[in-house]
Amino acid sequence: MQVSEIFFSIQGESSRAGLPCVFVRLTGCNLRCQWCDTEYAFYGGERLGVEQVADRIRQFPARLLEITGGEPMLQEKEVLALIALLPSEWTVMIETSGERDLGRLPERVVKIMDVKCPGSGEAGRFHAPNLKTITPRDEIKFVLTGREDYEYARDFIGRHRLAAITPHILLSPAFQKTAAGERGSRQCQLDPQNLAEWMLADGIPARLSLQIHKFIWDPAQRGV
Ligand code: SF4
Repeated sequence: MQVSEIFFSIQGESSRAGLPCVFVRLTGCNLRCQWCDTEYAFYGGERLGVEQVADRIRQFPARLLEITGGEPMLQEKEVLALIALLPSEWTVMIETSGERDLGRLPERVVKIMDVKCPGSGEAGRFHAPNLKTITPRDEIKFVLTGREDYEYARDFIGRHRLAAITPHILLSPAFQKTAAGERGSRQCQLDPQNLAEWMLADGIPARLSLQIHKFIWDPAQRGV
């Protein structure tokens, strides 16, 4: 499989935010979200066998793993082979754009699935049958750049009755893009206070999610 990086850090998002977690970031993505913070993973990395990846994962003192990208489902065959090598007591999460079919992922995998909003430039790429694969263990995430994105997410949540599918619906303000080393620019494109007030006004059944690793480390730092 083509691997951008493997590292051990603090889970920055999702219902497991704050927990130590091993990350396997795979190379390549077929989308181009305007706020993407991992463009370095579009190309490059190193070619590793799934056994080699599993060996590196086992070196870290954690039992929580996230497979991310890029878009990891572009390497579905290798991803499924890697998951099969991991002990059943590990929690395995996969972070995906929601554009690829998720129907062949094993039941043990916790899906963290995006629904892209208009501000990403990739709205409409969502693979609708994926909603049928979501269970209460899985998470659905909307990254928001402003009011239009918020209303898109709110309407999608209501129209598809997402709260009846999973309690884990995440609304996450997009970060401003920064150059490496700009430690002072921890700013969201959408002010979290505005988002909080909109959520309270609408009584929306979702969780406001901030990417806490970008508050702990430089927002442009890799490997965290
Ligand atoms: S799907 Fe993810 S990796 Fe791909 S462009 Fe969008 S944010 Fe970046």
